Amino acid sequence: MTAVQVPGTPVISDGRLVSTSPATGDEAGSVPVATAGEVDRAVARARTAGQWWAGLGFTCRRTRLLRWRALLAQRVEELAELIHVEGGKPVGDAVVEVLTAIEHIDWAARNARRVLGPRRVRSRLILAEFSGHLEYQPHGVVGVIGPWNYPVFTPVGSAAYALAAGNAVVLKPSEYTPVVGQWLVDTFAEVVPEQQVFTAVHGLGDVGAALCRSGVDKVAFTGSTATARRVMAACAESLTPVLLEAGGKDAMIVDADADLDAAAEACVWGALTNAGQTCIGIERVYAVAAVHDAFVDKVVARAERLTVGADGADLGPITMPSQLDVIRRHIDEAVAAGGRAVLGGPAAVQPPYVHPTVLVDVPDSASAIREETFGPTVTITRVADADEAVRRANALPYGLGGSVFGRRDAVAIARRLRSGMASVNSALTFAGMSTLPFGGVGDSGFGRIHGEDGLREFGRAKSVTRRRARSLLPAMTFERTPTDVARIVKVTKALYGRR
Ligand code: NDP
Repeated sequence: MTAVQVPGTPVISDGRLVSTSPATGDEAGSVPVATAGEVDRAVARARTAGQWWAGLGFTCRRTRLLRWRALLAQRVEELAELIHVEGGKPVGDAVVEVLTAIEHIDWAARNARRVLGPRRVRSRLILAEFSGHLEYQPHGVVGVIGPWNYPVFTPVGSAAYALAAGNAVVLKPSEYTPVVGQWLVDTFAEVVPEQQVFTAVHGLGDVGAALCRSGVDKVAFTGSTATARRVMAACAESLTPVLLEAGGKDAMIVDADADLDAAAEACVWGALTNAGQTCIGIERVYAVAAVHDAFVDKVVARAERLTVGADGADLGPITMPSQLDVIRRHIDEAVAAGGRAVLGGPAAVQPPYVHPTVLVDVPDSASAIREETFGPTVTITRVADADEAVRRANALPYGLGGSVFGRRDAVAIARRLRSGMASVNSALTFAGMSTLPFGGVGDSGFGRIHGEDGLREFGRAKSVTRRRARSLLPAMTFERTPTDVARIVKVTKALYGRR
């Protein structure tokens, strides 16, 4: 066991990042810390590997990615246990996380050719003498920077799609979960031993910053909004494109005709799974007055049954020790501002754990309503109707996901949420649906992982026109005559001049 003051806080010792369990302080493993020069060299090696990987083509890449998927599926228990030890997540939740990541690898591998491969594009009457060709070519090397809360699902959500698109990937895992990150690249190397197509560089935030400045061709970042701003600023120096998956403060709306038992079950899961350390976790609920009280009772009845602890419990520890202060502040401020804890409350914070906390009557100005809490807490606010619920749900700069429970108007309400995603009569389900894009608006970032948009995010469109006949209307040439120009005017009016 490593001597650390606070379990879970990574330490650097003899050039190695030592990762420890937030529950027990036991060492989960260690990885070498990269210097800025080593980051540059890793990217240079990845560039060579990426050329080889791109040259394999879609079919060979698909075969290898599916082998990696199979390896992960065969070793799901081993990976889930490692996630549990390093980050504190309950093993059952870790299994679900790995399953979701596997599904994304499978879909990306199977669909990359269809979405990104070369195809003919119809031309229109103007330029009808040319055919159009489109394909999405790999960027080259993609830098993936990941958080600790879903140390497999989040990096794989970018990396699998980037790899399927033909890119090499250099991953910078969170300093809280480097061993899981290294496990991912090591297992990939087992199925792709020829070249270092998928590698990792480790360290603190400065290593992530070095990756942004290393000359990678795209950065896919998942993490907090504050760091996303820094990543974008660093990438702006070299016009490196960025994909930003940032924080959230997702809302659930419970309408008058909702199935309240189902809504309460989904609320408790959406708010408390992974001890609330979920970017798309439900942190705020807006329940219409007619069902508010009954809904609160049902949520409390379910949430108070959950167990908290290191092993075999429903909720594990808070992975990042400093987050405990944020959670404590949000609860304290909510109560000080007139909110009521109908479950948990200030005493729920018992480091490294936080017990489920349900807050009602919290004013809109409180941090528990406005800021990302990232703990097992949820506010439930009474609203007059769905319109008020939508207005208040949309009142924050964040816009990641959301959930709506109801019958008649639920889909219409979901469409009005200012967010990249929403689940109707469930919570968080869009994350596991590989066919749907995932990403936010506003302070939650931009760009999309997953689905067809997620594949296109890692390829740049290459458009080619090819002449197939002589031009009857020569426009793009100095050889055109005044007569040609007069005909162009005539055609322009005929084609586009009518209202
Ligand atoms: P952070 O923003 O603190 O860190 C994210 C990653 O960025 C880490 O690998 C971190 O390294 C690295 N990093 C830190 N500083 C820099 C820098 N200057 N330049 C480049 N990289 C840097 O987020 P957390 O790890 O705390 O993750 C929690 C956050 O992630 C929450 O806000 C959550 O909502 C969000 N998230 C968003 C998701 C989404 O899909 N939208 C999904 C999951 C989480 P190090 O750890 O070493 O500091």
